[in-house]
Amino acid sequence: MSVSRAKASVGQGPDGPLLDRLSSLLPAQALLVGDAIGAGYREDLRAKPSAVPRFVLRPGTTQEVAACLKLCDAAGQPLAVQGGRTGLSGGHRIVEGEAVLSTERMTELGAIEEAGATVLAAAGTPLQRVQEAAQAAGFLVGVDLGARGTATVGGNIATNAGGIRVLRYGMFRAQVAGLEAVLADGTVLSSLRGLAKDNTGYDLNQLFIGSEGTLGVVTRARLRLHPLPRREVAALLAVPSVEAGLALLHRLRAAFGSSLSAFEFMGAAIFEGILGFLGRAAPLETRAPIYILTEIQAFGEEGVVDGFEAALMAAIEDGVALDAVVSQSQREFASLWTIRDSGSDFVRTMDHIISGDVSVPVDRTAVFLEESQAAVRRIDPHTDFFLFGHMGDGNVHYVIRTPKGLEAMDAVYRCAAACGGSISAEHGIGFDKKPWLHLTRSEAEIEAMRRLKRAFDPNNILNPGRIFDRASPA
Ligand SMILES: Cc1cc2nc3c(=O)[nH]c(=O)nc-3n(C[C@H](O)[C@H](O)[C@H](O)COP(=O)(O)OP(=O)(O)OC[C@H]3O[C@@H](n4cnc5c(N)ncnc54)[C@H](O)[C@@H]3O)c2cc1C
Repeated sequence: MSVSRAKASVGQGPDGPLLDRLSSLLPAQALLVGDAIGAGYREDLRAKPSAVPRFVLRPGTTQEVAACLKLCDAAGQPLAVQGGRTGLSGGHRIVEGEAVLSTERMTELGAIEEAGATVLAAAGTPLQRVQEAAQAAGFLVGVDLGARGTATVGGNIATNAGGIRVLRYGMFRAQVAGLEAVLADGTVLSSLRGLAKDNTGYDLNQLFIGSEGTLGVVTRARLRLHPLPRREVAALLAVPSVEAGLALLHRLRAAFGSSLSAFEFMGAAIFEGILGFLGRAAPLETRAPIYILTEIQAFGEEGVVDGFEAALMAAIEDGVALDAVVSQSQREFASLWTIRDSGSDFVRTMDHIISGDVSVPVDRTAVFLEESQAAVRRIDPHTDFFLFGHMGDGNVHYVIRTPKGLEAMDAVYRCAAACGGSISAEHGIGFDKKPWLHLTRSEAEIEAMRRLKRAFDPNNILNPGRIFDRASPA
């Protein structure tokens, strides 16, 4: 059904008066009802059921977002905010009675501002588009992740996305120089100047980063850019143990400081599974329990790449690593990263899979992995482990195959908490991790979050029920 035909039905049914008001303020393409609502809005990478939305709002500007929110707030209409729907905690999933507010029409990308090294992007802009524009102008976006083609700037901000280069550039929070968001009542908070220094009271921008759409709708952001490296080199190593992997991390950090830009790990099961999935031969002859994919970025310093190869050779001589292959061209660099990037696609080919995303202090990684695997095996001794993640950040993507998934994952979260870690390193809480939030955030902290929610969204229309329940437990 075309959008204009969809609009013809506006005004009928229980949503009629609200839809009439929305359609009088919005352009035709900004409101979908009935058959015009595609199945895509209900997509969920966790394959959990999503309700049919009452209607879909697709504002194209900040002013249209403000108009939508003002009317929905007045009508008490709850909204599920959606960007690229690549989120892995269910925050964008639709609950019965909710309408969708999608940023898919908000894709304006400004020119690269070279002197200040920033770019202004509308919330619905896919991350990859920003990366490509930055690269063409000689800059780099500090955050990169496997879902780059679909995940949006607004979603990245709302989830405070991490990814593969946090070691060097920090999480998405560190990339945000300025931000614009609209509160539930339609109030626009715009702070896009991107000043390096601005100590004028509370930094409200920070509140929206990682708030998973519960405090406001992010509409635009000024993103910090970084110099484009002259050369990037990746190395894949077979290492004998997690402890050896951590020793290698320590050595490379000491030797290369911030030139070390990624340090990822893959357990043997997922490494071999990905190779099978890709139909590729192993790039290393040596088999090992753990494989590390690490990367340095060189900015013209003499000898960094030679030094990297020498450091890896020394690691092999000292028994910290068993074998290594170092990329010699951009093609080889991309080919090594394809292995790591394909982890999620491989995992989705299997049944009975459940996954979590936890972090622990880096030096507790080995203890955590040992204790958590033992705890899971006590629940189901036949569990298959497909563990991988960002070892440089203490971040484990904990993927397991067992019919006792929830029970097993509960044990994993408890182990992460006991190791001083977090039950969500970078994917957020959404609906899916809400039952475990109390393990790593105190009741005082959660209550403070509730107070913020009440202040910013008194009628509870924005992503209600995500992260925590509005009411404190009795
Ligand atoms: C293959 C793959 C690899 C991934 N790798 C990583 C990784 O390495 N690191 C990582 O951190 N994540 C990763 N993710 C998860 C996901 O890509 C990120 O969470 C991403 O930031 C979500 O962006 P999105 O636009 O898809 O948001 P959505 O999924 O649409 O939404 C996510 C949350 O943000 C809210 N939201 C979206 N847009 C806005 C907005 N404009 N204003 C307010 N709230 C909003 C939604 O309501 C929801 O709560 C990966 C996902 C996949 C599928």
